[in-house]
Amino acid sequence: MRNEGLGSWPARRARKTPHRAALIHGDTTITYAELHDRTTRLAHALRARGVRRGDRIAYLGPNHPSFLETLFAAGTLGAVFVPLNIRLAGPEIGYQLSDSGAKVLVYGPSHAGLVAGLPGSTDVRAYIEVGPEYEAAVAEAANDRIDEPVGADDTCLILYTSGTTGRPKGAMLTHANATWNAVNFLIDKDLTADERALVSAPLFHIAGLTVLTLPVILKGGTCVLVEAFDPGDTLDLVERHRITYMFGVPAMFDQITRHPRWPEADLSSLRMLSCGGAPVPTPLIEAYQDRGLTFLQGYGMTEALGVLFLDGEHSVSKAGSAGVPHFFADVRVVTPDLRPVEPGETGEVQVRGPSVMPGYWGLPEETAAAFADGWFRTGDAARVDEDGYVTIVDRIKDMIISGGENIYPAEIEDLLLTHPDIVECAVIGVPDEKWGEVPRAVVVPRAGCSLDPDEVLATLSGQLAKYKIPKSVVLAEELPRTASGKLLKTRVRKRFGNHQLS
Ligand code: ATP
Ligand code: MG
Repeated sequence: MRNEGLGSWPARRARKTPHRAALIHGDTTITYAELHDRTTRLAHALRARGVRRGDRIAYLGPNHPSFLETLFAAGTLGAVFVPLNIRLAGPEIGYQLSDSGAKVLVYGPSHAGLVAGLPGSTDVRAYIEVGPEYEAAVAEAANDRIDEPVGADDTCLILYTSGTTGRPKGAMLTHANATWNAVNFLIDKDLTADERALVSAPLFHIAGLTVLTLPVILKGGTCVLVEAFDPGDTLDLVERHRITYMFGVPAMFDQITRHPRWPEADLSSLRMLSCGGAPVPTPLIEAYQDRGLTFLQGYGMTEALGVLFLDGEHSVSKAGSAGVPHFFADVRVVTPDLRPVEPGETGEVQVRGPSVMPGYWGLPEETAAAFADGWFRTGDAARVDEDGYVTIVDRIKDMIISGGENIYPAEIEDLLLTHPDIVECAVIGVPDEKWGEVPRAVVVPRAGCSLDPDEVLATLSGQLAKYKIPKSVVLAEELPRTASGKLLKTRVRKRFGNHQLS
């Protein structure tokens, strides 16, 4: 069997577009021919360190060409790539290394201290530090062709979920999952070989890797890798590299518009702005529209990659919606007894298709519970309109049931965040004798502002049904979040659910 996986992409690209730039990082440019050569050498180096088919290779570091080289080298050997979130603490990294059973860890110099402090109980036998050590390993290795058979259904990646609702789970993604996902984006985003993408979203997360970078590489475009997002640097890089395609979360795009260089920055090369994680607020859509730019929006998750897609044409008429399924994804929104919802009714989003993972690494029970008749249960609640556009409402686990009515905290949180003196908030359910549960708002006031809970509640009345209005407001200094910035509702409930009100 030949290599049907991602590991063959650099060779296939080198055959078609050897001289095109694949990756740019700082002053370094790596062409597709060089990417192929470096990836092959790295695969030899990894093999010399004992890596065999099915072994796991972990990577810990900010965006850098070595991240993608390690991914492709792992794929060349039929090994599994395990990217780790750089914002995790030492014990969390230690857990993911042990859980995945990684044999090799490639890490960035900024993580040398953390790596030195890792427990000795993991299976890691070889460590390679990015920089001179990594470069020497690549340079010293052979570059003759490696003919390891790799099937499309072999596991290519173990990607840990963000851990918003519990301990992060390792989603096993196959080469076919990553490939079909990339094809979905090629179709829906109309990517061309002239694409020059700015990759400031972290590569260890599905957005940076599978939404942005892999589709561009499949098509033969160029990825400009940036270690950390900065609004001013973004404007400079767009001009310097004539960036055509950018990805970010709404907060990043908002920061760019507030930068002093925004009014005069040359954005004429930009063709696509892509946004994920949350709907883009209409004023932000308008700020970019004034510069001739529209947003492409999406919804997805580690276990199923890209699922829903909202094109630029509908970004205003369907504002707030996450769109319709990608070409090769199927989505149903169903009630607990698996009946499709009526327009306006709320149900669970379930996904089926070639980008959906076969299961969680080492978790057969969680895997079984995650599927219903072959459909992946996302755990997200949504509504569908008469045109089939899906609006994500909230996570089902966070739903509050009060007097038989379902309350989705996100709706209340979105309104609270329009209050000028509130910077962060979370709405949770607390026990109530009469109603079973009632909503409580935990709010973080803007620095230097004093918030009056009654005034906060007064701003909600008239905007929400009475049963949705929080019965209490607790002021907090900050809210617990995951390493990727998502609100940890379980911890908010633990910390503020029994809070004694003064
Ligand atoms: P865990 O599964 O460990 O609890 P997580 O679900 O946050 O963590 P990810 O796979 O990184 O881990 O995130 C996927 C989730 O992010 C989705 O299930 C959904 O809740 C949320 N999400 C993604 N895109 C959007 C969007 N466009 N609008 C609203 N929510 C979104
Ligand atoms: Mg999840």
